[in-house]
Amino acid sequence: MLIVKKFGGTSVADKERIFNVARRCIEDYKAGNEVVVVLSAMGKQTDVLLDMAVEINPKASRRELDMLLTTGEQTSVALMALAMDSLGVPAISLNAFQVAMHTSTVYGNARLKRIDTERIKNELANRKIVVITGFQGINKYDDYTTLGRGGSDTTAVALAAALHADKCEIYTDVDGVFTADPRIVPSARKLPEITYDEMLELASLGAGVLHNRSVEMAKKYGVQLVVRSSLNTTEGTVVKEEVKMEKMLVSGVACDKNTARIAVIGLEDQPGVAFKLFHHLANHNINVDIILQSVGRDGTKDISFTVAKDSLEEAVATIERHRATSLKCQKVDIEKNVAKVSIVGAGMMSNAGVAAKMFEALYDVGVNIKQISTSEIRVTVLIDETQVERAMNAIHEAFSLAE
Ligand code: ASP
Ligand code: MG
Repeated sequence: MLIVKKFGGTSVADKERIFNVARRCIEDYKAGNEVVVVLSAMGKQTDVLLDMAVEINPKASRRELDMLLTTGEQTSVALMALAMDSLGVPAISLNAFQVAMHTSTVYGNARLKRIDTERIKNELANRKIVVITGFQGINKYDDYTTLGRGGSDTTAVALAAALHADKCEIYTDVDGVFTADPRIVPSARKLPEITYDEMLELASLGAGVLHNRSVEMAKKYGVQLVVRSSLNTTEGTVVKEEVKMEKMLVSGVACDKNTARIAVIGLEDQPGVAFKLFHHLANHNINVDIILQSVGRDGTKDISFTVAKDSLEEAVATIERHRATSLKCQKVDIEKNVAKVSIVGAGMMSNAGVAAKMFEALYDVGVNIKQISTSEIRVTVLIDETQVERAMNAIHEAFSLAE
């Protein structure tokens, strides 16, 4: 069997944990499997490197940042190969160049395009454990790129797809995917399985267990994932196309505090206004979410929407720049202390009243809803950031998600 095992930063944070991971991989190797290991940078090393860069140059170019950040993963794979070697098992570390893992050109947020598998296959055939850097790639200029924060998951899934692996295991510091973040909802329960679509909604909602693009890729190539803990041996959560169990009405409650709301008040109520507004924002690569447009009155209308907190400044500046010309409006309001709370469940599609039940739970604990958005398998509300805990616990309870 060919197994791809990915370990996150906390799983390789120090010497003891590196050896723990090495032993787990060796166990599979000794059972006769081919083992490919994908690693993140140790602990918070990526943040440490980013801080160092900003201290030297607050306007550090993305190219140099990638050059710097890729050293984090390179350190962990080399140390891991050394650990395995010291345990008497042949291992070899490879970086994105050596593999090679080809990506698009964008620094800091590149997309994997193609992975050469020859070198890996040769090393496996020589009965080595192959330890590969996550998060990084190379572009057509022969420069290092990175796949965006948390991107090692995507490296692992891409490798599993390219190598037609039999298993792809994502090891982390939690036991799997939960019905809610246990730090916010103490009664949260681990899910035995979850669909790709549910996981995608949860990932993009800030559940933070898996890199969003890794789930997209797993769905596209039919790679079944297991998310489990590197610190114990409890079975994790399987992420796949269809779950065997009866579809739960709601599988989980997620929150995303990295949200700010912008309201553009008194726009002209005529064709093309929404287009211009979002076109300008898109030109600056600003992702918008939950859009709400008011009913027009006296020839004007309001449009509000949410953006990630770190895009707020640029979004407002962009709107301000166009206010005098193509985007006439009365004022631009911002609200920073908001958060998105969402319920996700594949079973929602065929059941009425799910949204109403969520709203009732919020009403019961006095939480005001500022904005609402839905998809086939998700309902999201925008609420005051200070009420997230109360809201999530109430919703979790209302849908009987606890054990
Ligand atoms: N080391 C990178 C990060 O911290 C990639 C990863 O951990 O997946 O974002
Ligand atoms: Mg991660």
